[in-house]
Amino acid sequence: MNRKYRKTVIAANWKMHKTPAEAKLFAEHLKSSLPRAKRCSIVLCVPYVDIPLAVKLLKDSRIAVGAQNLHWEECGPFTGEVSASMLADLDVKYVIIGHSERRCMFGETDMIVNQKLRAALRAGLRPILCVGEDLQQRELDVTEEFIAYQLKAALAGITPEEMRRVIIAYEPIWAIGTGNTATPEQAGQVCSAIRGILRKLYGARIARSTTIQYGGSMNENNAEALLAQEDVDGGLIGTASLDPDRFLDIIHIANQD
Ligand code: PEP
Repeated sequence: MNRKYRKTVIAANWKMHKTPAEAKLFAEHLKSSLPRAKRCSIVLCVPYVDIPLAVKLLKDSRIAVGAQNLHWEECGPFTGEVSASMLADLDVKYVIIGHSERRCMFGETDMIVNQKLRAALRAGLRPILCVGEDLQQRELDVTEEFIAYQLKAALAGITPEEMRRVIIAYEPIWAIGTGNTATPEQAGQVCSAIRGILRKLYGARIARSTTIQYGGSMNENNAEALLAQEDVDGGLIGTASLDPDRFLDIIHIANQD
């Protein structure tokens, strides 16, 4: 982390977990147990059905609510979809874009990711853009080239002004939900490479101030070492965010000096 230049952001990705009743218990517990220190921003990316309740319960707290997906069109005949402006209207502040589960299981191409990113920015949301290699790409030693390609495709047409609102999450696919966390060095190296790509695309100032999270089996036991890396500015946390006490432990770690 380097708090001098950028915000530390700890975000939960609940995926398809927690009914509204369960979300209520979690939000109440988290809200009442938050540390006083405010050195990191906290985001809960919850299922659509939990959004209204989470927003209401967390209204006067410093925990922001995020979504996990959106559709890039404003409105129209897209059965089952939800637009960026609908989320913004509910007071959602963040949205995950391009998670590998959506890319792999729901056919999201780089072009779709780019359209979703633009839609999020148009609606005033802060996108958390996920990028990351699979195991084969890591073994073939093409991780950084692949991520450069993903980033350029996702950020096509995004202006420097818009880029100030984008958070990047480096999420190696082989580490997501597997318990195989990247080593702090691996995470630090790729996050630093991502910052290098941003420097080429947007210049030193924007690259220096962009929050780059690590995601992939981050938990209360490995967060300290991961967050100690200069270019790792927070975490996108799946499994360990489902238990409020484990998530709180990570928040405490991210709040340390
Ligand atoms: C994720 O899905 O974004 C994620 C990082 O999951 P997990 O922490 O379970 O690996």
